[in-house]
Amino acid sequence: MNAMSPPAPTLATKTASGGEILLRLSGVRKAYRGAVAVESVDLEIRRGEFFTMLGPSGSGKTTTLRLIAGFEQPDAGTIELDGVDMARTAPFDRNVNTVFQDYALFPHMSVAENVAYGLKAKRVAAAECRDRVAEALRMVQLADFAGRLPAQLSGGQRQRVGLARAIVNRPGLLLLDEPLGALDLKLRQDMQLELKHIQEQVGITFLYVTHDQEEALSMSDRIAIFNRGEIEQIGTPEEVYERPTTPFVANFVGSSSIVKRRGRRFMLRPEKVQVLPVGERAAFGFHGEEGRLEDRVYLGMFTKYVVRLGDGTKIVAVQPNAEGATGQLEKQRGEPVLVVWNPETAWPV
Ligand code: ADP
Ligand code: MG
Repeated sequence: MNAMSPPAPTLATKTASGGEILLRLSGVRKAYRGAVAVESVDLEIRRGEFFTMLGPSGSGKTTTLRLIAGFEQPDAGTIELDGVDMARTAPFDRNVNTVFQDYALFPHMSVAENVAYGLKAKRVAAAECRDRVAEALRMVQLADFAGRLPAQLSGGQRQRVGLARAIVNRPGLLLLDEPLGALDLKLRQDMQLELKHIQEQVGITFLYVTHDQEEALSMSDRIAIFNRGEIEQIGTPEEVYERPTTPFVANFVGSSSIVKRRGRRFMLRPEKVQVLPVGERAAFGFHGEEGRLEDRVYLGMFTKYVVRLGDGTKIVAVQPNAEGATGQLEKQRGEPVLVVWNPETAWPV
C-alpha cells in the first residue's frame, strides 16, 4: 500500500470476508466509572495497511486498542473484524495479536523458545513449529540469535523478539502499543524504518499506537489523530501535515504558526516561511509583512527564526543550512526583518 494512494471509494468496501476493510469500529464508546476514555470512535482499517493512532497521553488510544483486542467491552458501538461482529468473541478467539512496550520475554527461555511458546500452546506440530520460528526470526533479522537468552540481547533485539513472537502466529491484525517507547532516540528511528519494512514483507495489517508525531509520519499509510477520546482527522501523513482539518491537528502534527487575517485563521508551517532583510522584494504573488527578530537559533541542519509581527503574531520559520542555500540572515535580536510566504501555503484551520 502506498501512502500517496487516494482513499479507496466506499463502493469497494465489502463486509464479507476477503473484503477491502479488515476492521471497522462504529460509534465505539468506553467510560470508566463515569470518566469517558473513548467518546465515539468510527474507524475503518484496510487489509494490509499500516495504520497509526496518534494522540497525546490520555486521548484514548490504548483503550481503543484494548477494545479491539477484546480485553475490554465497549459501552456502545460495534467492532467488526473481517465483517464479523466481535461482541461475543473472546480475546483468544480473535484473529489479533498484541505487541506491548514491555515485551515480557521468559528470561530462562532462549529466543527460539520464546518465539515458539505460543505455537506449542496451540499444539502446532514440531516440524512446522521449527520452520515458522525460523521464518519469524529471519524476518526480524535475529536468525543468528536463536540460542541466546533475553539477558544476552540489546533492547532493540528484545523488542524484535517480541515482534517475532507475535508474527509467528500469523494474525490477521497486529496491534502495537508504543512498542518503541522504551528505546533511545537513535535506536527508535532505526527500528521505525525496520518495522515498516517488516510489515511490508509479512503483509500483516498493523494497527500502531504512538504519541510521537514523527514516528507516525515516518511509518504509516494512514494516521488517525486522537484528542480527548475522539478522532479529529484521518488521513495519509501528507494529508494530516499539509491539510489539517482542525487547529488541534495543525498543532499536534508538526509545528505551525497561527495567523489571523480578515477574521480567518491560517496555519503556516515553518519551512514555508522565509525571513529576509527589510527592503528586499518578495517573489511575485508572495505575501510579505514586517516584524522584529526575536530569536535566531542555529540547529545544525537548519536555522530557526522567531519573528514577532506588528500585531503581536508570532511567526516561526526554518531555513536549511544547505550548500548553495541563500545563507544565514545576519540580523540580531530586535532588528526589523521581512517575513514572506506564498498565500497558497497558508492553510485555513
Ligand atoms: P492513551 O493510551 O491515549 O494515553 P488511554 O486509553 O490509556 O489513553 O486512557 C484514556 C483515558 O481513560 C485516560 O483519562 C485514562 O486515565 C482513562 N483510563 C484508561 N484506562 C482506565 C482504567 N482501567 N480505569 C480508569 N480510567 C482509565
Ligand atoms: Mg496508551
